[in-house]
Amino acid sequence: MLKILQMMIASTSSSSLSFANRLNLQRRGFSIISLSSSTTFRNTPSILSTSKTHSVKSFRMSSTRSDSNSIAPSTSSGNFRKVNFCQWCGGPTKHEIPDGDEKMRAICTQCGKVAYQNPKMVVGCLIEHEEKILLCKRNIQPSYGLWTLPAGFMEMGESAAEGAIRETQEEAGADVEVLSPFAQLDIPLIGQTYMIFLAKLKKPHFSPGPESIECRLFALDEIPFDSLAFSSMLVTLKLYIEDMRAGKPKFHYGTISKRPGTSPSDIHASTLDYHLQS
Ligand SMILES: [Zn+2]
Repeated sequence: MLKILQMMIASTSSSSLSFANRLNLQRRGFSIISLSSSTTFRNTPSILSTSKTHSVKSFRMSSTRSDSNSIAPSTSSGNFRKVNFCQWCGGPTKHEIPDGDEKMRAICTQCGKVAYQNPKMVVGCLIEHEEKILLCKRNIQPSYGLWTLPAGFMEMGESAAEGAIRETQEEAGADVEVLSPFAQLDIPLIGQTYMIFLAKLKKPHFSPGPESIECRLFALDEIPFDSLAFSSMLVTLKLYIEDMRAGKPKFHYGTISKRPGTSPSDIHASTLDYHLQS
């Protein structure tokens, strides 16, 4: 199922899904909740509102509290870094669109190598234990003192699931078994993709690692939505609660954007677009 979803996503354009693709997705068992970049999250209910017409609906939350949207601080739109020196030989770079390319790249003036910049993968676990969810209060910036699922950047040489298990061990001192993928959420604005897995504790033990002040199990009606660290966690937890109220978790794909005119650091001003679910 996951593979089919990935293939279908890969086959869609970056700007919109065609009607034919929508029909295909629906025939394959996916509900399309949101397709428009103008869709927004609706306020108050702690669950996503869904549309029976396969179009345009999600949720919007409002808050005056401001915090970061990213695991790592973002630098600019698209999170592109200005690369002035070559990472291989240290030579100065020039910024040009290479032949056959469409984007501006930093090109080394000495060795000619191109510094491509690509999104980073953040991996984490949504750990279910006795109908509660394990959250960690961050002991580091950004979003110090706010709650998150254990998650972090995937390292070279590990799979996404291995990374999620490692991050959970590091941040929550918990030994977990990954059960299934739960959500892939892209945040194009900051060049990050989140892969969140459902997981369970192998042993009923957890303790905060150096990056956490505290780790705690929360019942679904206790989740501190006003004190969450990242929009990705907000979306993940909302989707999970909605799924559990409907009976069981699904797999979700979507992109997280900011509503125009809102602060980039206000996680409650997020929009979930291209929401597909199995
Ligand atoms: Zn070079």
